[in-house]
Amino acid sequence: MPANVHKGVRLGAPALLGIPFDANSSYLRGAAAAPPLIREALRCDASSLWTELGVDLGSDGAFEEAGDLALPDTQVLEAIEGAVGKLLDKRLRPLILGGDHSITYPVVRAFAKTFSELTIIHFDAHPDLYDEFQGSRFSHACPFARIMEEKLAKRLIQIGIHTMNEHQRRQAQRFGVEVFELSKLPACEELQTWCPVYVSFDIDVLDPAFAPGVSHREPGGISVREAIRHLHSITGTIVGADIVEYNPARDVSQLTATVAAKILKEILGKMVTEPVCPEVAMTTHEHAR
Ligand code: MN
Ligand code: MN
Repeated sequence: MPANVHKGVRLGAPALLGIPFDANSSYLRGAAAAPPLIREALRCDASSLWTELGVDLGSDGAFEEAGDLALPDTQVLEAIEGAVGKLLDKRLRPLILGGDHSITYPVVRAFAKTFSELTIIHFDAHPDLYDEFQGSRFSHACPFARIMEEKLAKRLIQIGIHTMNEHQRRQAQRFGVEVFELSKLPACEELQTWCPVYVSFDIDVLDPAFAPGVSHREPGGISVREAIRHLHSITGTIVGADIVEYNPARDVSQLTATVAAKILKEILGKMVTEPVCPEVAMTTHEHAR
């Protein structure tokens, strides 16, 4: 496949893409209903579109809306990879609204075709490094095992983990994952990385007191403020991101939708302020299958 490598290109706007998929969730379904509710909370008149870092997301062209992906009955992972690849081919920076966390594997597959030395910064209560879970290698408990096996990222930095077990600790060692469990936080300085950066934000990293609308509530998580402080500390150019595992069926008074929209806003703000990085090498080629 012919590929053209570009360095120091100005990256396009962030593009919001919903992926309403939760069939790989191991315990409860419901996350598929999240994307429109996060968008609604983002646009809610209760708050403005200004971010804490002083970016007006309401200004013309700040970000684009790519709608929700229409999922086929079969070959869903391929469809997700293809849809994200099409946005990347337009030099947009996809910001994905899940969906369960299994979608991150096909999404990062698409990114790896464009960005060869991706650093993934992964916020989660769980390492999601299982080789297989309940008989599936594509469960939402497995995406980062698949990503690291296929060498789709150069670095994987995990923030806020507090459910580590023996199997996943071995997996983390095997793949060289930089794990910052709760006891090691804050880890803001460790997020001063080189670009390009992909942020994967599982809402259940937050304490259920702040974000009850998740399938796997893990008490003792980080606060919304701690999450934002870490997001603001990232120094590499964010070329893409996902916000996953918001489960509206478990929410209380749309609280978690508001929290997911806040996290979305702060990630978008970071993306808008850093549109270019001289060290980012982009490869363009046909993603279409
Ligand atoms: Mn997860
Ligand atoms: Mn999780």
